[in-house]
Amino acid sequence: RDRIRELLMLYSAPDSAAHPVSSLHFTKENLQEALDDNQFILHYQPKVLVQSGRLVALEALCRWSHPDMGLVGPAHFIPLMESTGLIHELTQRLIDQALKQLRNNLDNNKAIAIAVNMSPVVLTDTQLPDELYKKTRALTIEPELLTLEITESTLIENAARALETLARLKMKGFSLSIDDFGTGYSSMQQLNRIPFSELKIDRSFVQSANLDKTRKAIIEANINLAHTLSMETVAEGVETLAEWHLLSQLHCDMAQGFLIGKPMAAEDLPEWERQWTEKLPLPPASS
Ligand code: C2E
Ligand code: MG
Ligand code: MG
Ligand code: MG
Repeated sequence: RDRIRELLMLYSAPDSAAHPVSSLHFTKENLQEALDDNQFILHYQPKVLVQSGRLVALEALCRWSHPDMGLVGPAHFIPLMESTGLIHELTQRLIDQALKQLRNNLDNNKAIAIAVNMSPVVLTDTQLPDELYKKTRALTIEPELLTLEITESTLIENAARALETLARLKMKGFSLSIDDFGTGYSSMQQLNRIPFSELKIDRSFVQSANLDKTRKAIIEANINLAHTLSMETVAEGVETLAEWHLLSQLHCDMAQGFLIGKPMAAEDLPEWERQWTEKLPLPPASS
């Protein structure tokens, strides 16, 4: 099952990561050296409000800036990071980078939340909430501006401890988001146990939803469910204007995807924002 998941992730990483092939093999030593050399960087993908197009958050996505291979996508190294335990160190470093970016944005009068993806493995560390809280305090950042995206498959593997860590994160004021909603075994059970503030509708439901009755019904049901539970919704993988209009019609709160912007280096965000703002308001639906 992990292999299938890996293949699916590889297949779905065609953006700013330059290596879509699955034949890259790394060792623990490779990863440790790259960590010591700070080769893991974050790219950022905008989350915007569907109503207005306004930028409200950035999702931080990890890339390995490899000296020979260029940008390597997360599917090539996250599984090995997890199985070797290096994921703890990687996560700490990525959180530091994300918080630095957040501080930067605040200094430029931009209160934009940043979302970081959390591996199942790091949720076994019950010290994590205190550590993250200290990091935000040190930079005088409100914890709620840091969103932690958790894939539901995560919670199945380490149930008890992960639940404890998540509850503590919530108590510290961090925002919790359930990622790839609907693709795991027990989405509803996770909702029942964990106080998420955001639900991300998986790309597999969003793509071509304007042409597919089933996908549209799933999106609609998920949005209603989320809103009833006072959660906000984000549609992932929005690639077309027709999908955007459907989401607008279904009252989805936020959208993320290539239509809006691909994951990009922090330095490219201002130019993206300028171009995006110029496109607003988006043209109305054609039918
Ligand atoms: P995710 O969190 O669901 O992230 C969304 C993925 O979909 C990203 O792939 C993004 O580039 C891609 N994407 C966004 N919009 C579109 C679109 O319109 N069309 C298509 N086809 N794809 C789109 P990426 O960056 O390769 O990341 C894949 C997965 O790797 C992420 O899925 C996340 O689960 C994991 N990941 C990424 N960064 C980290 C990290 O720092 N830590 C951990 N633990 N996992 C990470
Ligand atoms: Mg995510
Ligand atoms: Mg996702
Ligand atoms: Mg996804």
